[in-house]
Parts: sequence; structure tokens; C-alpha cells
Amino acid sequence: MVINMVSRSSSIINEFNLVEDVFLDIRLCRDGLRIEFEIATQCVEGRLCLWFNRGLEIEKLYIDNVKQRISHELSVDPDLKAIELKRLFIELEKGRYSIKGVLKGRIEPIMGLHGSIDKLHVLRPTTLYYPFTTSCKSILIPLLLCEHRDAEVLFHSDILHRFKCATSLYRVDSYWRASERVSPIEVVIGRFRISRFEDNFKVYVYSLHRKPLYSAKKIHDVLEKIDMAYRESFDVEIPIKEHHIVFLPQGGGFSSGTLTALDERFVKDEKGLIVNLVHEICHKWWFGTIKFCDRESMWLSEAIPEYITDYILHFLKLKPIEDSKNKRLTIARDIVVDSKYRPPTDVPIPLSDFEEKIWRIVGTAILYRVEDTVGKENMFELLSRYMKESIKSKTLYCLTWSKMRSDLIELSSDVEKVLSEYRV
Ligand SMILES: [Zn+2]
Repeated sequence: MVINMVSRSSSIINEFNLVEDVFLDIRLCRDGLRIEFEIATQCVEGRLCLWFNRGLEIEKLYIDNVKQRISHELSVDPDLKAIELKRLFIELEKGRYSIKGVLKGRIEPIMGLHGSIDKLHVLRPTTLYYPFTTSCKSILIPLLLCEHRDAEVLFHSDILHRFKCATSLYRVDSYWRASERVSPIEVVIGRFRISRFEDNFKVYVYSLHRKPLYSAKKIHDVLEKIDMAYRESFDVEIPIKEHHIVFLPQGGGFSSGTLTALDERFVKDEKGLIVNLVHEICHKWWFGTIKFCDRESMWLSEAIPEYITDYILHFLKLKPIEDSKNKRLTIARDIVVDSKYRPPTDVPIPLSDFEEKIWRIVGTAILYRVEDTVGKENMFELLSRYMKESIKSKTLYCLTWSKMRSDLIELSSDVEKVLSEYRV
């Protein structure tokens, strides 16, 4: 996502609750992207902040019905430091406004793949939502009414999928107003070749290459295997039946609603494909929402998929669990001892490393240590229960560390001792 509106402090968030409609049109043009947006807001008064990625310039901006309106200031946000997003402040008086604008340009990556790579544009707002950036503690999610006119644009959002909104017209404002924490809309734009396979899992594969790395049929077959492993191990089935798989040339994978992006470099052989698919599929149970629950829970969003992936690989006889476990415990010990990390809140290193080392390795190691204490059966039962609750939940299900922590302590009081070692 390119534009995000956030309020500077929680004290004014209520005043900005009344964003009514947001329209977003993103199109691929010769020199990059053209993004038109329109926001209708019934702001009481205060400062509205629009964020957008580096590389995009404002071509037009109009605000109607405002007398003394824009004190606009384009700058890098000090709270986001390395991320360097642009922001535009608009001072609003009482009233109803319509703000329209056009942004043009190529998106510069702000983290890994999130930017323009040749003719591929991947827009992810994730970095904006990390709660450790002080500006973003309170979030007003942005552009909730989007219409795409270009078939090569894939819009995806967990929340949209969750509430089964139409695929060509997204309108979710009333849904997300119920909760301040909603996963973002992901946008992937490129000139793709598409292959499809329809069976019990509908699979669409998008690739920038002439021929995708794997056919839709192949992905389908792998998904069936993974589904069986999830059923056998956790008594749950993959929560979606339609898959949009996008192969990206770099930047890592991600998961959102029916969209699963895979980094081609990591899925060259079948084992790599399975590892990455299992991990990304796992995110779908929580609809990408764990990291938005609170700062203390963020690490679960990667630790749980990693932990579960290790077991699914074991189940599929691709890697013995003992090997995965020992490796993670050893590396995690070094990380925790050497750098005195206290996951998940210490962020002394770039975000991607932070995710890699803290969330994945240390986070998974913590789950293994807890498993040793409460027993594998209990651990599986707990995770299975959370997965089922998440699917059943009528509102956004936020699995928080405090909930999981107290559930684990209920299973064994020794859990606290283990957790204190990792200072979580
Ligand atoms: Zn992940």
C-alpha cells in the first residue's frame, strides 16, 4: 500500500474515525505506477497524515471545502528512521472533506522486495504497521475502497478475504472500523503469465517469466500433500480453497488472504517449494493479524509458522524434527547470549535481520523450550485450538503472546522459568 493515514497520537484517533470512503486506482504505465486516490472524511478537526513510499511524487493534490487547509510538509519520519517514507500533513478544520490526489513514479524498496523490480511492483504496507514505530501505534487504515481496472493488478488483503468481499471491488470500511487493527492490503502489479488448475484447490500461478517455475497442477498436488499433513498433525485443513501464487524474483515470500508470494530463489527444488508453501500457508490461519495485536506478540507471527513448518517437514519425511530443533536451539543460544536480545522488542538491527534472527530462530527456539516443558501433545493441542478459533471467529482473531503465555503457564508452572531465560 502506498498511502496510509495515521494519526499522530491516540488522543486524536477518534477524530479521524470518520474516514468514509477511500478510492484507490493503481495502474501500470510506461514510467511506473500511477496511483489515484480519493478520500472522503468527516474529520472533526486536526492533522491528517498521508504516508507514501519513496520514489513516488505527488502530481496533483486537491482538497475541497477547506479554507485554511494544507500545512503540508514532506519529510522522512524520524520514528521510522531506516524506512524513509514520505509524509504529507494536512491540517483540517471542522467539516467534511474530499481529498484527491495523483501519485506517480516507481516505488523504491523500503524493505526487501517491497518496491519496484523491473516491471514488477510490490506494495506492502507492512513496515508501517510495526507497532514499535511510535507514529503508528494507532492506526487508521487507509484506502478501503479500491477498484482495479487492470487485470494484471492483484489486490489482496486478509481482511477482504475474511469477509468475502467481491474481488473486483473492495469495500471494507465498516468491517475494519470495528477494530483498529486490520491487516493491510497487499498489491502486486506486473505483466504476468498465468497458469491455472481447478480441482479441490483452485490454483492460479502468476509468473513474470515465460514459463512459471511450477505449473498450477504441480502446486495443487503439493498443496494436497501439505493439507494432509496439517490434517494429520493439527486436525485442521488449509483454510482457503483458492490460491493465487505469485513467483517473485527476490525479496522473500509473504502471505495475505488467497495470495501467496514465493521468492523464486528459495523454491528452486521441490523441498524448497514445500518449506516455503507450508510456512506461508500457516500464516493464513491468523490472517496475518498476529503482528498487529501488540508489540509483545509480534514475534509469534513468524515463530509459530516456523515451528509448525519444522513439524510438517518431519511428517512429510523431508527433515527429521530433531535436526531442525537442535539447529534452532544452538543458533538461538548464540544470538541470545551474544547480543542479549530480548525478543521481540529489541530492534537494534535492520528489520529484515530482525525478523530473520529474532522472530524466526529465537522465537522458534522459545516454542521448542516451552514444548519440552509442557509436552508436545499439549503444545499441538493448543496450536490446533488457536487455529480453529481463528477460523471460527466472526471478528478479527488476535492471538496475543499474553494469551498464549497464560495458556502455557496453566499447562505447567515451569514455563515461566523457561521464558525468563529469554526475557519474554
Ligand atoms: Zn512468515
